[in-house]
Amino acid sequence: MAKSHETEHPVKAFGLAATDSSGHLSPFQFSRRATGDEDVQFKVLYCGICHSDLHYLKNEWGISQYPLVPGHEIVGVVTEVGKKVEKVKVGDKVGVGCMVGSCRSCESCKDDLENYCPKIIPTYSAPFSDGTISYGGYSDIMVADEHFIVRIPENMPLDSAAPLLCAGITTYSPMRYFGLDKPGMHIGVVGLGGLGHVAVKFAKAFGAKVTVISTSPNKKEEALSNLGADSFLISKNDDEMQGAMGTMDGIVDTVSAYHPLMPLIGLLKAHGKLIMLGAPDKPLDLPIFPLLAGRKMISGSGIGGMKETQEMIDFAAKHNIKADIELISADYVNTALERLAKADVKYRFVIDVANTLKQA
Ligand code: NAP
Ligand code: ZN
Ligand code: ZN
Repeated sequence: MAKSHETEHPVKAFGLAATDSSGHLSPFQFSRRATGDEDVQFKVLYCGICHSDLHYLKNEWGISQYPLVPGHEIVGVVTEVGKKVEKVKVGDKVGVGCMVGSCRSCESCKDDLENYCPKIIPTYSAPFSDGTISYGGYSDIMVADEHFIVRIPENMPLDSAAPLLCAGITTYSPMRYFGLDKPGMHIGVVGLGGLGHVAVKFAKAFGAKVTVISTSPNKKEEALSNLGADSFLISKNDDEMQGAMGTMDGIVDTVSAYHPLMPLIGLLKAHGKLIMLGAPDKPLDLPIFPLLAGRKMISGSGIGGMKETQEMIDFAAKHNIKADIELISADYVNTALERLAKADVKYRFVIDVANTLKQA
């Protein structure tokens, strides 16, 4: 007889799961594997809500596997370690981001780019190496190979550190890789949501001048006064966009839905780089002529490797970078997802898992 989600592993776990593409989350009993020699088990304290959770819940990318426990911005405290674990000990504060496995031997893995491994295992809704499905952090307990565990620096508040595990590394990595981390550069950030607002903070820490390009006029004042952005353009305001044409060295685009690229390419200087981070479910239109006129570049980037994720979080701790969050209880999560779909959050929902996720 096939084992149920509750019995396929020995450790009882409880979380929130969707059973279909309505995406509605309900209480869910399941199980986690026993802590293997190289595994770290931890009690989940907080979990951020990434827009990717929403894409997955609604099966917008066509790859979702149900029942689906989302969550890949997970922090907690270590409860058990396998006998070969060296990185952390019981009681340490740790995190897991977007992946829990990779082949560990391909070119990408050897280059500390497990995020580009063809055999990457995402933290949830993916087949795990033992044939079961991975479950994410909207749950009370987590277990992962120590290679995919991040140490959370002592001075970091855990709730606002959680979003760095996806939003943080996803914006930090491309700015580093594409050389958009030089003091004095002018960096554009498109979409002021979870990814966008930490992109502003990292770009400022690198010494850049930062311009937000947004559809939400109500985010302007706070972006300038609290997030430290230097200027703010409304993407639908042609005059504002025209005034900034040809001024930017690089742009990170975090928009989750279809949007035109032409105006963004126009904002770049010659040799400017437009880095696509958002993952809309439909293809975007790519105009070629504006790329030729100025040898401009468009690329994409996906999260970051484990080594760089640790580097990012240590950098964030040093520069006092944390996410601006709205801390919510587990019973608010369906409402939070509805609000996230409308870009109605400043700037990341984080679930207070340990205090509010309770079995009935
Ligand atoms: P989010 O918090 O919802 O932020 C997205 C922002 O995009 C919104 O706040 C809004 O900003 C803007 N936006 C939304 N709909 C728009 C539209 N129709 N036209 C123009 N702008 C729009 O989402 P997130 O968690 O930051 O994630 C953003 C995207 O990145 C998602 O697609 C997610 O799946 C993807 N992602 C990719 C990676 C990766 O590795 N590349 C990692 C994580 C997430 P304004 O209100 O300022 O306009
Ligand atoms: Zn994410
Ligand atoms: Zn690999």
